[in-house]
Amino acid sequence: TVFAKNMTDANAERTFIAVKPDGVQRGLVGEIIKRFEQRGYKLVAGKLMVAPKALLENHYKDLADKPFYSGLVTYMASGPVFAMVWEGKEVVKMGRKMLGATNPRESAPGTIRGDYCIDVGRNICHGSDAVETAQREIALWFKDDELCDYEFADKKWVYE
Ligand code: UDP
Ligand code: MG
Repeated sequence: TVFAKNMTDANAERTFIAVKPDGVQRGLVGEIIKRFEQRGYKLVAGKLMVAPKALLENHYKDLADKPFYSGLVTYMASGPVFAMVWEGKEVVKMGRKMLGATNPRESAPGTIRGDYCIDVGRNICHGSDAVETAQREIALWFKDDELCDYEFADKKWVYE
């Protein structure tokens, strides 16, 4: 039916989420994955990698004129990051809510940043800020064949 088709498309939004080097070092990869899994989102891709500086400079290019930019790139290159793609209804907006505010001291308790970190320059996770940004970031971090195409078994229990 038309309804089923529309529902399927709306539920296929994707976002790029990464556990930053401090999050990896602090053993928070599993916790962050767990929150997206338990919310009902579908994991489409994931990999641990030390990101090349050129990739990070491109990823954060909109912030190139900020005073914290070079420190940000150095921080992000300081160890492995766990890069992921998550899929589901409004996952870009919901992912940002689940992460919390950029400054962890303004992140509500119950959010990832609001529960696990303190300083803005050590805020443990990244999430795309818009659907178009997500598309750019997914293409930057992942090859097409790294995105897994499969049917999510929980789908009919998560979506009405
Ligand atoms: N950042 C920082 N100092 C600032 C603002 C941002 O170190 O004053 C870092 C922080 O790690 C943040 C990243 O730069 O997550 C990207 O900034 P953005 O404004 O895009 O925040 P985000 O989208 O990550 O919430
Ligand atoms: Mg951002």
